[in-house]
Amino acid sequence: MAMSGPLAASDTEQASTTGPADGRQRLVLDSRTAAVGALTVRRALPQRSRRTVGAWCFLDHGGPVEAPAGAFGIGPHPHIGLRTVTWVLRGAFLHRDSLGSEQLVRPGELNLMTAGHGIVHAEEHPEAGPLHVVQLWVAQPAATRDGPSAFEHHGALPRLALGAGVATVLVGSLGDAASPARRDTDHMAADVELAGEVVLPADPAYEHAVVPVEGALQVDGAAVEPGRLVYLGPGRDELVLRSSGPARAIVVGGVPFDEPVVMWWNYVARTRDEIVEAHRAWTARDGRFVVPDSVLAPLDAGPPPWAGAS
Ligand code: MN
Repeated sequence: MAMSGPLAASDTEQASTTGPADGRQRLVLDSRTAAVGALTVRRALPQRSRRTVGAWCFLDHGGPVEAPAGAFGIGPHPHIGLRTVTWVLRGAFLHRDSLGSEQLVRPGELNLMTAGHGIVHAEEHPEAGPLHVVQLWVAQPAATRDGPSAFEHHGALPRLALGAGVATVLVGSLGDAASPARRDTDHMAADVELAGEVVLPADPAYEHAVVPVEGALQVDGAAVEPGRLVYLGPGRDELVLRSSGPARAIVVGGVPFDEPVVMWWNYVARTRDEIVEAHRAWTARDGRFVVPDSVLAPLDAGPPPWAGAS
């Protein structure tokens, strides 16, 4: 997806820090509303007080919404330094990219796109009907962020039975269930469906966030629903989620990411200068970024708010 506007100017949230008595950090944050093309999303990450969770640096939740075909397509746009993880709860998107990839993604399937030094993709919306989608970004580490771009699709993912629920592992591991998806740092994501109490195994080296996408639930005792995020600091060997009815949440986690992250529009970098250069190359269509075939027109933005300043 394509971010709209600079982050800092509109990055607002309310935080509460009423964590448990043992001192492990817990934050409850409100997502903010953002527009991705015509789709209104709840942007859970980044937030001013919580830029990353592990290497996860962006988390959008859109829908559920009823839509005519094509209503929510996103035209070709560039990315650098990040991996997109597209997870559709209902509906479908058609991914096209500058590597020549063309891949429909449906519920239960995962599209994973690695930007590296640069990639361009479009996300077409081919079918009328309900749409409910999550897109996450992972910040690539120094070892891979300037490397080649790549795309992979996984038609089936491991599931872990949790008693009163089930988890689908998108990236990384949960208990003994491991996703085949590429990762360059220690991180995980899972889609957890529950009706009752579930206890997720957790790596104490990881920090986590829980983002409800359907229904109401309690996370570590905090009551939340779609539009909020619960951040849980490192030091936990399990995460407790509880609901009185059917509920569903995306759980992300990872070893705290220790590299600086600078984000603007669709770029993840280390410095503003890197972003200015990427955006110059995109705006000039100078060969670093190749526009893939798409029924949609390419997107433009900017310049960055600091461009021209030293
Ligand atoms: Mn995108």
